[in-house]
Amino acid sequence: GQCVAVCPTGALSAVNTTHKVWTDLQNPRKHVVVQVAPAVRVAIGEMFGMEPGTISTGQLATAFRRMGFDAIFDTDWAADLTIIEEASELVHRIEHGGKLPILTSCCPAWVRFFEYQFPDMLDIPSTCKSPQMMMGSVVKSYYAEKMAIDPKDIVVVSVMPCIAKKAEIQREELFMDGLHEVDWVVTTRELGYMLREAGIDFSTLPDGEFDNLLGESTGASVIFGASGGVIEAAVRTAYDWLTGEDLQEVDFKQLRGLEGVRSAKVKIKDMELNIGIAHGLGNARKLLESIRRGECEFQAIEIMACPGGCIGGGGQPFHHGDMEIIKKRQEAIYREDAGKPKRKSHENEMVMKLYREYMGEPYGEKAHELLHTHYVPREMI
Ligand code: SF4
Repeated sequence: GQCVAVCPTGALSAVNTTHKVWTDLQNPRKHVVVQVAPAVRVAIGEMFGMEPGTISTGQLATAFRRMGFDAIFDTDWAADLTIIEEASELVHRIEHGGKLPILTSCCPAWVRFFEYQFPDMLDIPSTCKSPQMMMGSVVKSYYAEKMAIDPKDIVVVSVMPCIAKKAEIQREELFMDGLHEVDWVVTTRELGYMLREAGIDFSTLPDGEFDNLLGESTGASVIFGASGGVIEAAVRTAYDWLTGEDLQEVDFKQLRGLEGVRSAKVKIKDMELNIGIAHGLGNARKLLESIRRGECEFQAIEIMACPGGCIGGGGQPFHHGDMEIIKKRQEAIYREDAGKPKRKSHENEMVMKLYREYMGEPYGEKAHELLHTHYVPREMI
């Protein structure tokens, strides 16, 4: 609507659609699938009196089963898929003299911002869809085919730390044969209210499991939730691909932190990758202006609109910009990563199975059709 067009962050389109989710869950003709973003699992517990920084991945799976979802998938799985595509795009641009720096594209508030403010530079951002949209697209194609369900009968619900994700699902460029790829977005806070409504005491729930097909995840996908994490995940994969090695030391600590603009160099064989990271759109503007002036030395830049990245998203439990709480969520994210047996996206078996069975080559024709998008200059009205 009009609001979406004039609000670069999409915040004005933040309609609560939780009643629609309950309606679909009660409709026996609908197959209702849920996915949950990395940042949600380190914050939802705060709504139930748990300490900031508590990791509640297993309880979330149990909560979704009790709510009645037909399949429980993990946006982390799609984040691993995003990294395969984004690292392929980066390697492709490096090897074929493509446009650099590449900019990450998983934050819809940031995408809107550059479409409005930098319409002359729309060929710089990665064309990768965000993880939530990749999941929606895979569910309504690969999963629908595998399960022999008409995509029209599938409802995809995303639980996100983010308000801008509600506007993202309305982008015309992200429709699939007239269908929304994702049907409803529920914020972390709204999920908390839904659980209370349903009388589910989250803090006492036992651990459950995600459904394996689109539920496996690596440490690389978990760190998507914190500023610097997307680019660190991409570097872990690009490193192995560019060197042919199996990198053992995967902690690129120089990419982590909470300062508004950071830069770091990562050595990959004889090449030095110069990386920029910004969170907050004011900081992003400075980086974009330096690219426009031809003064930017980075080959890859990650930008997130919220303080600290998605852990500080507008849909998270109220933190009033409390950086202490954001720091605890950030520590939880890196703890979860460190505890994972696999920490690189290309080690995700179920993602690689998708390529073998259905998608073909990473960054290939089918991947372009289902996992990539394009950007449109937008005018302030
Ligand atoms: Fe959403 Fe903020 Fe994350 Fe961007 S940084 S995807 S606006 S929560």
